Amino acid sequence: TPSKEGKMFLRALFDYDPNEDKAIPCKEAGLSFKRGEILQIMSQDDATWWQAKHEEDANPRAGLIPSKHFQERRLALRRPEILVQPLKVSNRKSSGFRRSFRLSRKDKKTNKSMYECKKSNQYDTADVPTYEEVTPYRRQTNEKYRLVVLVGPVGVGLNELKRKLLISDTQHYGVTVPHTTRARRSQESDGVEYIFISKHLFETDVQNNKFIEYGEYKNNYYGTSIDSVRSVLAKNKVCLLDVQPHTVKHLRTLEFKPYVIFIKPPSIERLRETRKNAKIISSRDDQGAAKPFTEEDFQEMIKSAQIMENQYGHLFDKIIINDDLTMAFNELKTTFDKLETETHWIPVSWLH
Ligand code: 5GP
Repeated sequence: TPSKEGKMFLRALFDYDPNEDKAIPCKEAGLSFKRGEILQIMSQDDATWWQAKHEEDANPRAGLIPSKHFQERRLALRRPEILVQPLKVSNRKSSGFRRSFRLSRKDKKTNKSMYECKKSNQYDTADVPTYEEVTPYRRQTNEKYRLVVLVGPVGVGLNELKRKLLISDTQHYGVTVPHTTRARRSQESDGVEYIFISKHLFETDVQNNKFIEYGEYKNNYYGTSIDSVRSVLAKNKVCLLDVQPHTVKHLRTLEFKPYVIFIKPPSIERLRETRKNAKIISSRDDQGAAKPFTEEDFQEMIKSAQIMENQYGHLFDKIIINDDLTMAFNELKTTFDKLETETHWIPVSWLH
């Protein structure tokens, strides 16, 4: 939009309340904001305190916000635990997947976790989410659709929502076909259930970073390739992908313009009420073996959702609470309609 030219917009990646900020020179002059909100930067003259206003706020009066550098520094010093502890979530995918996750966090030379060996004075401020520069983006009619990434804890109903979307419009929505090294079963066809490839080729593809995620199950590899996302988008479909949230950062490019939706569980009371007679497929390992939800499943779901939100909340474009399935589905549908027709904010870094 020409009217936005020359202006600088940042997406806030943390919540800020000047009243709770001991460092701010004048609390009344501060601007409060929530994670995900868009701020227009009015002045960056001061290295510590920038002046900003809420993007949609017609009142041009700016308030003080901590500068990126200042916020990164003090967050890293105050909350070292966010940097020194690797993520501990119960993974919903295969155990092999879990292993590949851990490997990705390891330092190749020492084979030690980068997080474990980080000294208190070696904070990587890139790990501290503060602000991200964004720009308005609206999909042109002849343009490919954005990749939609669905994340959420085991049992939250993500697969059900995905299935409902797919059957609601099979021409419009698509999912990726995974790769596997296991033998094709008689009723399966190559390229439908799976793309069947050799172990050697799979390993080469892993080396060449062709996979978004992969895992091992019963001595075979399984994984989702980047090209499988491309082929869904090439058919002019919205690609629905559900992955662990840590894989999202590799997909954040102009090509995919991922829109990340977090499917969040309701309160534990609501879980008990609404999922009484429902069943859970606890992981991809026990595919098909659905069991009734236990109290531990509910607690695990809430805990794992909290961890995901704490650690990856800054990557979520939208949070949908799956209390009632129909309502969550309708909200999801509305989100998709808006995504295709309205202006959204995308990181400036995708354009370079
Ligand atoms: P099956 O061989 O019975 O078709 O699938 C067995 C298992 O393969 C699933 O339960 C799941 O653990 C794993 N699997 C299937 N697709 C994928 C995938 O795309 N990525 C990963 N990591 N595992 C998969």
